[in-house]
Amino acid sequence: MIPAQFEYLAPTTVEEALAALAEHGDEAKIMAGGQSLLPVLRMRLNAPEVVIDLGRIEGLRGIREDGDALVIGAMTTHTEVGTNELVAQHALLLTKALEHLADAQVRHRGTFGGALVHADPAGDLGAPALALEAEFVIAGTGGSRTVAAADFFTDVFTTAVGEDEILTEVRIPKHTGWGAQYEKFVRVSHQWAIVAVAATVRAEGGTIAEAAIGLTNMGSTPLRASAVEQALVGQPATEDAVRQAAQAAADGTTPPSDLNGDADYRRHLATVLTRRAVLAAAGG
Ligand SMILES: Cc1cc2nc3c(=O)[nH]c(=O)nc-3n(C[C@H](O)[C@H](O)[C@H](O)COP(=O)(O)OP(=O)(O)OC[C@H]3O[C@@H](n4cnc5c(N)ncnc54)[C@H](O)[C@@H]3O)c2cc1C
Repeated sequence: MIPAQFEYLAPTTVEEALAALAEHGDEAKIMAGGQSLLPVLRMRLNAPEVVIDLGRIEGLRGIREDGDALVIGAMTTHTEVGTNELVAQHALLLTKALEHLADAQVRHRGTFGGALVHADPAGDLGAPALALEAEFVIAGTGGSRTVAAADFFTDVFTTAVGEDEILTEVRIPKHTGWGAQYEKFVRVSHQWAIVAVAATVRAEGGTIAEAAIGLTNMGSTPLRASAVEQALVGQPATEDAVRQAAQAAADGTTPPSDLNGDADYRRHLATVLTRRAVLAAAGG
């Protein structure tokens, strides 16, 4: 099917894009890489009268350092983030997660910001962003505001970004020297995660000093495995100690049941994948 007819706008600044959003209101839809939006339009699940393409706004693209943070422009593609040296050095968890996100074609078009605003519970970037305690910079006609990752994902396909706002960049506190691993369970490669676990660990001489763990597809939003994080601190990075701590991985989660697996199966997967991810992140 082809999408219903729409007017196409390609602003070159964020201000122009915001003005177009303000003018067209509910009738307008932002487009980033189009990898999730275009299938929706083609299936006619949504039929906006105006599509505002952010692709020509150069200022929304790129990766830079800003003191203790790494700043990733919303329109930076998955390929650019996944192959960037600064990201590998200061936020290795993103590099690891992006190795598992879709196929090369989607990674070349899809954007970091687009995937995060799309907020699919099975998406691969939410859990790493949450574990890394990212901050989201959101622009509106009244100015910009910053939202912590813990407040950004509000429900299935829903974030703190309002209808009249644009995500401009994501600030990631540097996790220099932290190990990382993304364990994604799928039936077929390039599939969406049945469950995935994003773990990043700072180890000191074989002991876990700090750990941050995000869970993918274990609820309507990405979740932190806080009980596991706390249990890991001060523990040796050994199979036994990590296995013990990982038992709490599914605490407080509400995983879905579907044809890929029921909720109990997903809870089991979460504990297994957490153990594997933490051991790999800690170099164990
Ligand atoms: C075949 C296929 C397989 C895929 N597999 C995976 C996978 O395994 N894991 C995974 O995580 N993802 C996967 N994806 C999704 C991919 O990551 C998309 O790139 C992503 O979901 C959307 O990014 P986009 O840049 O294409 O955004 P778009 O599709 O252009 O936009 C998505 C939504 O976000 C809004 N939006 C986008 N950018 C902004 C912004 N800056 N400010 C405000 N609103 C914005 C749009 O209005 C739209 O509602 C897959 C996609 C396809 C087509």
